[in-house]
Amino acid sequence: MALIVHKYGGTSMGSTERIQNVARRVAKWARAGHQMVVVPSAMSGETNRLLGLAKELAGSAHSDAHLRELDALAATGEQASSALLTIALQAEGMQAVSYAGWQVPVRTNSAFTKARIESIDDVRVRHDLAQGKVVIITGFQGVDLEGHITTLGRGGSDTSAVAVAAALKAAECLIYTDVDGVYTTDPRVVPEARRLHTVSFEEMLEMASLGSKVLQIRSVEFAGKYRVPLRVLSSFTPWDIDIKEEAKSGTLITFEEDEQMEQAIVSGIAFTRDEAKISIIGVPDKPGIAHKILGTVAEANIEVDMIIQNISKGGLTDFSFTVNRNDHARAIDMLKAKVLPELGNPEVLGDAKICKVSIVGIGMRSHVGVASKMFASLSAEGINIQMISTSEIKTSVVIDEKYLELAVRALHKAFELEQNQA
Ligand code: ASP
Ligand code: MG
Repeated sequence: MALIVHKYGGTSMGSTERIQNVARRVAKWARAGHQMVVVPSAMSGETNRLLGLAKELAGSAHSDAHLRELDALAATGEQASSALLTIALQAEGMQAVSYAGWQVPVRTNSAFTKARIESIDDVRVRHDLAQGKVVIITGFQGVDLEGHITTLGRGGSDTSAVAVAAALKAAECLIYTDVDGVYTTDPRVVPEARRLHTVSFEEMLEMASLGSKVLQIRSVEFAGKYRVPLRVLSSFTPWDIDIKEEAKSGTLITFEEDEQMEQAIVSGIAFTRDEAKISIIGVPDKPGIAHKILGTVAEANIEVDMIIQNISKGGLTDFSFTVNRNDHARAIDMLKAKVLPELGNPEVLGDAKICKVSIVGIGMRSHVGVASKMFASLSAEGINIQMISTSEIKTSVVIDEKYLELAVRALHKAFELEQNQA
């Protein structure tokens, strides 16, 4: 008998029928002798619906007072789904109780709409578990020290579940979703993409930050920090499948040291279209210029991803960097207004038709030639690489957006990711 946390995403909670299925699945786990804590998302579409209503009424409001109300509003989605799931569990003959974030309480800081969990009180939950109850805790929300309801940012229920699992020292946190695990890449781009039975926590972290949308990145960070065993699996299998089989399905996120299996050198290919490039041609090659350019961009709260500076010719150099596509126009305006005049008005080129493709694998640490294999396979397809960045376990390239699918397929093949690993 173990303490297990289940998390169900919005699609899994999308209708009363689906909620009933979730209840039956949870009841099966409880009847098998496990202590069960469940963290649901809002029913799919509900958070968008609520925030849409707020937008209709808000005008251009952006104060903290406004953000406070957005959180009070958005948090109701999870409150409703949690109560509905509890009702469904009771109808299944289970003892069950639901708690909103403030009732546990799940303490967060006061950063409305992007709060961070600081602590979770386990007393009430443990008491209920000891009495044989299934405990349902709202995802996505918490409460700050002044009693204001907060939310954790979109997709935050993943983080809630992992944090609850960490606080309760759960044996495992199962993230039920509409896909059956983490894939070598997006199967919509590469039909041969394969589900990974295991992926290391570090690889998962890279994949989440490089564009894989399976898990919210903060939930992966949290799992790493508290070493929470995490599994991503499908909620669309029949609820009554054999529990032993279910417990082994999906993708397990492991910690490298625990890893006994031989690792593939490259585990997956992540990509994102959300990027745009800015190049400034012919800036003076002297101290302080990078700071002037990137400092100004940072002041506008725009995050910079890749940066490249060329060698200089005649005291001038070219400077390129990438930002999120949503920030592209604003970043260029900022530069034109605040930076370029001081640099003698060099030319700026913007390119929003780029994408970033990355190979990820902890095996890259101990193997040479992985990046060059990547470059070779892109060049064989005639794809020009515009920018490169590397870390210990990933290599990313920026290429023309129109080659995204071609590049991902070529790399998937080059690294033989369609092949089953032992
Ligand atoms: N309901 C929230 C959202 O849609 C949180 C979540 O589903 O994880 O972003
Ligand atoms: Mg989600």
